[in-house]
Amino acid sequence: MSTKLTTTCPGCSCICDDIEVSVEDSKIKSVSNACRKGAALFLNAKPQSNDGIDDEIDEAIEILRRAKKPAIFGLDNTTIEAQQIAIEIAKELDCLIDDYSRILYGDLLDLVLSSKIPTCTLDDVRDRADISIFWGSDAMNSQPRHLSKFSYFPRGEHKQKGWEFDRHAVVIDLYRSSSAKVCSEFFKIDQGGDAAFMDAILGTLSGKPPSSKELLRLINEIKKANFGVIFAGSGLISGLNRDTEKLVGFMEKLNEYSEFCTIPMVKAYNMRGFVETINDSGLERGEPFPQALVNQDVDAALIVGADPLSDLPFPVSRKLREIKTIVIDPRTTPTTEIADVAIHSVINGIFGEGSVRRMDGVEFKLKPCCIAGGGLSDEAILKRIMEGL
Ligand code: SF4
Repeated sequence: MSTKLTTTCPGCSCICDDIEVSVEDSKIKSVSNACRKGAALFLNAKPQSNDGIDDEIDEAIEILRRAKKPAIFGLDNTTIEAQQIAIEIAKELDCLIDDYSRILYGDLLDLVLSSKIPTCTLDDVRDRADISIFWGSDAMNSQPRHLSKFSYFPRGEHKQKGWEFDRHAVVIDLYRSSSAKVCSEFFKIDQGGDAAFMDAILGTLSGKPPSSKELLRLINEIKKANFGVIFAGSGLISGLNRDTEKLVGFMEKLNEYSEFCTIPMVKAYNMRGFVETINDSGLERGEPFPQALVNQDVDAALIVGADPLSDLPFPVSRKLREIKTIVIDPRTTPTTEIADVAIHSVINGIFGEGSVRRMDGVEFKLKPCCIAGGGLSDEAILKRIMEGL
C-alpha cells in the first residue's frame, strides 16, 4: 500500500517544504512539486545499513585521540543538532572547526547576521519585492525553485499581478547563466568588474550620464522600487576580491533611494545554520581549513557532509592524502574514497531528522519520510564519537 505525505527537501538552501512523496514498501515511488535536483535526491535515496559501523566509529575515535593537530571541516550539509555536537567535539579536542562559508562568501554572512547589511526573508521577497538582483549567483542551477517560489514568478501578498507587471529580475554575472536567460535583464561584467559596476550604478543614481540605455533602464527600475533585494552569490564576493566593505557601502547608498536588502545565496542546505550555530557557541573557528592543510597544521581531519578533494584547488586538496581522514557522508565521493574511515550516514529529511536554516535564516524541521535500513544520522554518529572521546 502506498502512503502519500508532504515533506521538506534538503536539496539546497531553498528548503522547499511543499514536497509531496508517495512511499510504498519503504521506497519512494513518486515525488511532486520538487525541482529535478530535489526529485532526483528523493528518488535515488538509498537506505544505509549499520553493518560495520561500530568498528568504523571506534577507528574514527582512535584517529582523533592520536592526532596532535586535528581539525573538523564541512558541516554545511547536515543538521543544526549535528553541527552542535561537532562544535562540542572541537571544544573537547581544542581544534579548528571550519566550513565553506569563509572560503566562498568571506565575511558576508557575518555582516548580514550583525545587521551591517540589511536583510529580509524569502517570504518578504515573495510578498513585496519589486526588483530582485541576482549578482554572481545562478539560482536556476543552484536553487532551482528560487525564482518560481520566491523571487520572480510567484504572486505575493502585495504582488498580485505577477512577474509580467509587478516584478523586475536582473542578473549581473560574468556569463549568460541559466538565470540570465529567464530574467528581465542581464548585465555581463568582466572578471573583477563588480566594484566598477557598483560605482556605475551609484554614479548614474546620483545624476551622472549613464554609460548605456540598459543601465539607465536598471536605474529607473531601482528608483521606482519600494523594495529591492540583492541575492549575493560567491561570484560577487570573489569579483569584489573579498572586499565586502564595498558591498556594505553600496547597500548604504542604495538605501538612500529605496529599501534594499541582501540575502546571501548560499548553496549548501544548512550553511546559514552552521554560521549562526558557531557564532552562538562563541567558539573561534581558528585558521581556515585550506590554509591549515597547506601550512601542515592538520594531521587528522573529521569531514562531515563535504567533498573537499573535489572542491578545493588541487595544490590544497592533495594535502588530504598526507593526513588521516574520517568522512561522515551519505554519499560516495572522491573524499570518501580516499578516507581512512568513511562512515555512511542516512540522508537527513529522507531517512533522518533535524533542524536547518534556509538561506534567509528561517528555521525548518526535516523529518524522515521513509523508514528503512536502520542506518545512523550524522548527529547519532557524531554523538557516539563524542562519547568515545
Ligand atoms: S529548489 Fe532546492 S529545496 Fe527546493 S526542491 Fe529543488 S533542490 Fe529541493
